[in-house]
Amino acid sequence: MIDFKNTQIAFEAKSNADLRRAKILFNAIKHTWVVKLGKIFVYITTKLRFPVGWLLKPTIYKQFVGGETLEKCTPLAQQLMKYNIRSIFDYSAEGGGSDKDIQQTFDEFIRSIEYAKGNENVAYTVFKPTALTTDELLEKASSKAELNEEEQKQYDAYKQRFEKLCQRAYDNDVRILVDAEDYCFQDAIDEFTEEMMRKFNKKRATVFTTLQMYRHDRLPYLAKLYNDAVENNYTVGMKFVRGAYMEKERERAKQLGYPDPVCQTKKATDENYNSGLLYVIEHIDKFEMFSGTHNEESNIVLANLIDKHNIARNDNRIFFAQLYGMSENLSYNLAHEGYNVAKYIPYAPVKKVLPYLIRRAEENTSIAGQTTRELELLKAELRRRKTVKKGK
Ligand SMILES: Cc1cc2nc3c(=O)[nH]c(=O)nc-3n(C[C@H](O)[C@H](O)[C@H](O)COP(=O)(O)OP(=O)(O)OC[C@H]3O[C@@H](n4cnc5c(N)ncnc54)[C@H](O)[C@@H]3O)c2cc1C
Repeated sequence: MIDFKNTQIAFEAKSNADLRRAKILFNAIKHTWVVKLGKIFVYITTKLRFPVGWLLKPTIYKQFVGGETLEKCTPLAQQLMKYNIRSIFDYSAEGGGSDKDIQQTFDEFIRSIEYAKGNENVAYTVFKPTALTTDELLEKASSKAELNEEEQKQYDAYKQRFEKLCQRAYDNDVRILVDAEDYCFQDAIDEFTEEMMRKFNKKRATVFTTLQMYRHDRLPYLAKLYNDAVENNYTVGMKFVRGAYMEKERERAKQLGYPDPVCQTKKATDENYNSGLLYVIEHIDKFEMFSGTHNEESNIVLANLIDKHNIARNDNRIFFAQLYGMSENLSYNLAHEGYNVAKYIPYAPVKKVLPYLIRRAEENTSIAGQTTRELELLKAELRRRKTVKKGK
């Protein structure tokens, strides 16, 4: 049985100074008012073009972001690999949606696929489909409303970019995760990702779709994907997450008067998630799986399923994953036990990664128990180190 409370393994790679910095940070972001104030501060300083890098870089940026560029993240990837943890570099710049922004982001996604080629430190590449076009267009396409001529042209260009990323990943023998986003975009994203899986996943999974298991319609969709894979002879690349936009989704459904797409309770989401894991393990011949969660129980469920079904712990088809800067106790202990683990590592210049950082801070404040858990682990490890030092 894995011991996720083993802080010695969890923080093996961290110095005392790293732990103290993380402790101060998590102590600050556990307060909703600090995060709210931080958000206002960032908004004002951005509007005034006041540089904030000096403040953020040694603190929240250092905790949650790998660096400004892929090259600057290389030492981090090498260090993680020493602990049998692979990297997934996630270009997290959130641009304005202009043609120039879209092109620049697309070029960076391509660069990240090139960087991953033959690079054993990198487990997957990743992109957000919304970065390849405008939200308005993706929402309209998802709603099945008829697109006018200009919109259709733009939509075809979006699909071309999407396909080019998958093609490049396929050519480079690199896996590519298609992140999931808001419900209102997801139908169009799912549909095209299915097309890409049919095209590129014949021999093995190159393209991975993402299922947000807080949605109550995802288990039937999972079975539908399985049937499609059997019928069309391909492997489903399956990335599971619980879903990051619950409050927004509930609010939007209420405002626009459609049924809430999210499970009514946390327990229902948890059951959905774990049922998804079970389904894939029981049909592993047609799947490769990526489980992106900080939930201790789901990680144990998956680890036990792997062992119970006599699947090798380092079977390349199955990966556990957490976000960089969070839940080191899960990542390092799973890797220590020989399971495949990867970290999502955001990278981008400070200015461009601010929305991502605000989301991380908000998530750590809003997900009950998460920050407390991080803090408890940090404190326990600092205490343990002190005791060991005294004992010497
Ligand atoms: C490697 C990785 C990649 C990710 N990629 C994506 C992505 O592509 N798209 C995306 O949307 N998110 C993504 N996420 C974020 C993810 O969806 C979750 O928001 C986050 O990981 C917290 O969920 P958890 O499973 O880690 O832990 P937990 O703390 O156990 O679960 C919290 C989650 O449970 C759900 N939940 C909480 N309360 C309720 C309730 N009352 N009713 C119903 N459900 C509830 C919500 O989804 C909430 O985020 C990713 C996370 C990781 C670790």
